[in-house]
Amino acid sequence: MSRLLQEPIARHACLAPLATAIVDGGRRVTYRELEEASNRLARTLQDSGCSRGDRICFAIPKSADAIITILAILKADCAYTPLDTSSPASRVAHIVRSSDPRLVIGTPATLAFVEQVLTEAGSPDVRIGLVGDRRASAAGSIAFAGVDLRERPAEPIVSLNAPSDPAYIFFTSGSTGTPKGVVISHSNVWHFVRWANRYFDLGPNDRVSGYTPLHFDLSVYDVFGTLTAGAEFHLVPPEAGLAPAKLAEFIRAARLTQWFSVPSLLTYLAKADAIRPNDFPSLKRLLWCGEVLPTPVLRHWMTRLPHVTFTNLYGPTEATIASSYYTVLACPADEQSPIPIGVSCEGEELLVLDEHRRPVPPGTIGDLYIAGVGLSTGYWRDPEKTKAAFVDRPGGDDRIYKTGDLARVGDDGLAYFLGRNDSQIKSRGYRIELGEIETALNALTALKESAVVAVQSDGFEGATICCAYVPAGATDVTPIYLRQALGKTLPSYMMPTKWLAYDLLPKNANGKVDRPLLREHFRQRDARADRTA
Ligand code: AMP
Repeated sequence: MSRLLQEPIARHACLAPLATAIVDGGRRVTYRELEEASNRLARTLQDSGCSRGDRICFAIPKSADAIITILAILKADCAYTPLDTSSPASRVAHIVRSSDPRLVIGTPATLAFVEQVLTEAGSPDVRIGLVGDRRASAAGSIAFAGVDLRERPAEPIVSLNAPSDPAYIFFTSGSTGTPKGVVISHSNVWHFVRWANRYFDLGPNDRVSGYTPLHFDLSVYDVFGTLTAGAEFHLVPPEAGLAPAKLAEFIRAARLTQWFSVPSLLTYLAKADAIRPNDFPSLKRLLWCGEVLPTPVLRHWMTRLPHVTFTNLYGPTEATIASSYYTVLACPADEQSPIPIGVSCEGEELLVLDEHRRPVPPGTIGDLYIAGVGLSTGYWRDPEKTKAAFVDRPGGDDRIYKTGDLARVGDDGLAYFLGRNDSQIKSRGYRIELGEIETALNALTALKESAVVAVQSDGFEGATICCAYVPAGATDVTPIYLRQALGKTLPSYMMPTKWLAYDLLPKNANGKVDRPLLREHFRQRDARADRTA
């Protein structure tokens, strides 16, 4: 049976009120404090006019306050959308306009950003709430819009929501130039969390990492996997995320039992040689999701940490956190062996189909579709995109989601990921539609033509974003100029890092930009640079 996500957390607050729920630097929040603070904030949200079905955006750095806010939004029967404060205000404004929230919550530090976003969104009437008033949070509570929440009743709130109601809307890169919102319900999350917590045997004695930013869906398992299990949630300080030695020290000092992140971070730590033999003696499980973990990197980790279990999780945001899993049984014998994405999680199904949506024979490459309990109802207020991606199962009465991934099922019955059949890429763990970058380039009058291609690198970043361009007229267009111009609309992780100027972009026989040739040009230039280095 599905539940509302806040319910099991409330139960832990009754059973073990003094157990630690969140560790955020020097601040420890118990289950009782989490429960009471989120009840108080939820009441205040309701008093501010938020009710069932409303969306609430927030721009709060990852912190105990942010987690309390998420829980309060759910208790107020609303859906949450975290805003990335490192993205340009114009991109975030699009997200806010599209989400059409009742309220945007900020902190004193992000208030100016929120105001700028609302101005750019043309939504000056949307109300702004503030959390994180230090006078109150020093006492383990939070203030909201000047109201000291300690004065609000802390009793539980009766929810009107059903498990099928939205819990969050996360925005991912869109191929037509603007981010699209994926609507995920309580029940979608609950099914994954319940399966995963049983499979990983997560319980109150666990100490779990909180590394992923809250606007990515890996964070949903961090937050709700940990808190519905009654475990301790350890927020990784942002500065540790960028310094391998500090991050390793954090895992040691917090005695984490479970780590979950994108593979590029694991590659980064391995390349920096930050892990000692038999390091992290408390660590039991290491999970990754979001992109391919290179086999040499997995071997590096498995050799250093023989006491840890390693699990590959696979799945798109549209099917909630992950849809399949594979626990690596033994260290791969050679560096070339691919790591399977495995078999579907409970209640989910992976289907490998041909272009007529018929199952392909085992061993044959096909398009990967997902069915089952994780499937989103679709893209927020975008029936067209929803219809294109969530299609009827041939001969069945349910929907299947077209991932855009290519896969095959091996003789071992396990699914293998074989790349994409479109121009979506992963770079440093970020999901990026190259079309979104091209749309931003097309808006620049300084360019006559441009195209963006991705070239696989062997560094930790995965794909390198490369831009080929033709300046308009005789103007002196440099990569520095282009980077500055694009920086007004694109987040830094979408910024091309390689540039080539052309008089005319190469075209194929159909008159389309010859992208394979462009990729070849970037590779050749890199090879030349390596030779002269
Ligand atoms: P996101 O919505 O950001 O989770 O991105 C989903 C996409 O990431 C999938 O469609 C795949 O292309 C890729 N992906 C997710 N997990 C894995 C994995 N374990 N191995 C390879 N690719 C993955």
